[in-house]
Amino acid sequence: MLAPLREITRLIKQNFGVGGDTVADLAEQAKNEDVELLEALETDDSEMAKAAQEASVVKLVNQILVEAANERASDIHIETEEQGIRIRYRIDGLLQNQNLPPEINRFALAIVSRLKIMARLNIAEKRLPQDGRIKMKVQGREIDVRVSIIPMIHGEGIVMRLLDKGRMSFNLKNCGMLPDIYGTFKQVIDRPHGIVLVTGPTGSGKSTTLYSALNEIKDEVTKIITVEDPVEYNQAGISQIQTHAKIGLTFGHALRSILRHDPDVILVGEIRDKETAEMAIQASLTGHMVFSTLHTNDAPSAFTRMIDMGVEPFLVSSTVEGVMAQRLVRTICPDCKAEYVPDPDAVPLDFPGRTGSVKPAPDIAIQQGVVEMMGAAAANDGKLWKGMGCRACRQGGYRGRTGIHELLINNEVMKDLVVQRVNAGVVRLEALKAGMITLRQDGWRKVLNGTTTIDEVTRTTAGDIN
Ligand SMILES: [Zn+2]
Repeated sequence: MLAPLREITRLIKQNFGVGGDTVADLAEQAKNEDVELLEALETDDSEMAKAAQEASVVKLVNQILVEAANERASDIHIETEEQGIRIRYRIDGLLQNQNLPPEINRFALAIVSRLKIMARLNIAEKRLPQDGRIKMKVQGREIDVRVSIIPMIHGEGIVMRLLDKGRMSFNLKNCGMLPDIYGTFKQVIDRPHGIVLVTGPTGSGKSTTLYSALNEIKDEVTKIITVEDPVEYNQAGISQIQTHAKIGLTFGHALRSILRHDPDVILVGEIRDKETAEMAIQASLTGHMVFSTLHTNDAPSAFTRMIDMGVEPFLVSSTVEGVMAQRLVRTICPDCKAEYVPDPDAVPLDFPGRTGSVKPAPDIAIQQGVVEMMGAAAANDGKLWKGMGCRACRQGGYRGRTGIHELLINNEVMKDLVVQRVNAGVVRLEALKAGMITLRQDGWRKVLNGTTTIDEVTRTTAGDIN
């Protein structure tokens, strides 16, 4: 219904008797309720608590949280520096400064106290690190916030990790795998037993890939158990265990007990030590499919990493079926995407079609994927894409992220090599012979099809051999 503002104001005054209250004030209140806390708060009568509960502080903190959620931030960093407070959001993997009014410094202490109250922490404790959690709803979406507070020399630093449950979807089709990699990965995760590893640094999307894989194979006849540290997303139809190192419930310990729960598929958050590695191998040898992650840069290094932990090479070679290395690259903003011709000197030597660059590793027939890439490069006629910057991407030219992948499928030749304890480079050559597309090559494929840019691939694969 349409009605003039004057009329609405008159009726509100008449019916609610709010006297001085204006429509604008009411609108402000409604905005405040954008953040709905899902757990009751406890406060005391101290001055600190009172300052933290002042309406303006509550509103300010809510705005910080709402803004972060709207910007799809994964983390909020609140840092106290000599000059005052600084707030940065991590969006698509990179930190971005937030502009703040200078008056915010007056509220610095109260903001910290307010966040401590929301996370149910001790607001009087300012000398020791504290960890807490905020469960809230922002505009109807349920968001879990993990809060970490550490005292720094200029005051307490706060980092909040936002887990936006409403936005998470664990669908293998949305992980950004190109059809060849998707198809092969799907085949390997459907096997009845063995180990599948996903590798990459923190924040490379390993958990998302694994949860998506579990969702893909989840059905009524399959029992899936996970051991995680911590459990970040509750998954329907999957039994999840949270490790608890203080009382000795480690990955290895939990794995030992899990087998008595008769699972078909097991997810171990991470293989960090010999005990976990051996239990994972044991599980796979007794007919279970085991998924886990490792911290290595590329896929072939997964074998040597496990052997370095002290596991027998023949056990590693006979159980690890596939290894997926991955990174997340930012995707070009669809609203301001435009063609351009890159400066030839800015194009990396291993980029397909780069003049004077064709240098497949010696003795290797060029992988089928690379042949297709050269074709795509020729078809593009030297043109690539980038974001020019617009409001939707905050002038950055990127919006959202997708994966680039390197999928190694173990074969008889590689198994022999692993048993001989060769270095990762030798396994890598063999994998390339078998047709493996490397991380960088997969990245170039996504540059050529206009998903991302050379800069993104170079940034996320720096330090990898091409
Ligand atoms: Zn844009």
